[in-house]
Order: sequence, then C-alpha cells, then structure tokens
Amino acid sequence: MRVCPVCHRGDRTTRLGAHWRTLSPQARAEAPHLAPPALEDERWAAPLGLLTLGCALVVSDAWLGFVGLAGGGFWLVSLRDKVAQAASRRADWHRKRLCRRCHHAFLP
Ligand SMILES: [Zn+2]
Repeated sequence: MRVCPVCHRGDRTTRLGAHWRTLSPQARAEAPHLAPPALEDERWAAPLGLLTLGCALVVSDAWLGFVGLAGGGFWLVSLRDKVAQAASRRADWHRKRLCRRCHHAFLP
C-alpha cells in the first residue's frame, strides 16, 4: 500500500490516471493540476526542411548552406530534447498516485 506523504495514510490512495478518467469534464476543469501533461507538439517537418535546404546549398557551394545545416541540426536536437522531457513528464504522471483523503498527488 502506498502511503501519502502529506497525511501519512495509505488506505485511500489510488492511481492518478484511473482517478482522472472517472472525473466529469467540470471536475477536470476544476482540477487542472491533476491533468496529464500535454503532448509536445512534434513538428519535425520545418527543421528537417531547413536541414535539407542546408545540404542542397552546401552541395551547390553556397556558404549559406552551413548556416542552414547548423540551424536545422540545432533545431532538431532541441526538439528531440523537448519531446524526451514531455515523455518523461507523462511517464511520471502515469506512475503518480492520488490520496483521496487530502487530494495530494505524489510519486510512490
Ligand atoms: Zn493524503
């Protein structure tokens, strides 16, 4: 049994995800702190396009291609990190438990 770190009781804890699914839309609106983290907007097309454009310019001997390559590469790496962080937050949310006694969400 998972013990709540606030009230030190474990008799009324439940999975946060299961609790969230039972809430009505109005109850969800009143408890935004319990909501699952939003999915990160994964727009890979723009940085990949910039990278491709950079490659094309480098092949045609244009110095601007290196700027495109560096920018597209940096953009892709930062987007990958943001997606990984969002996935980690969602995984934590799925592991969280909710104490129905004091309404505290916690990681076991
Ligand atoms: Zn509690």
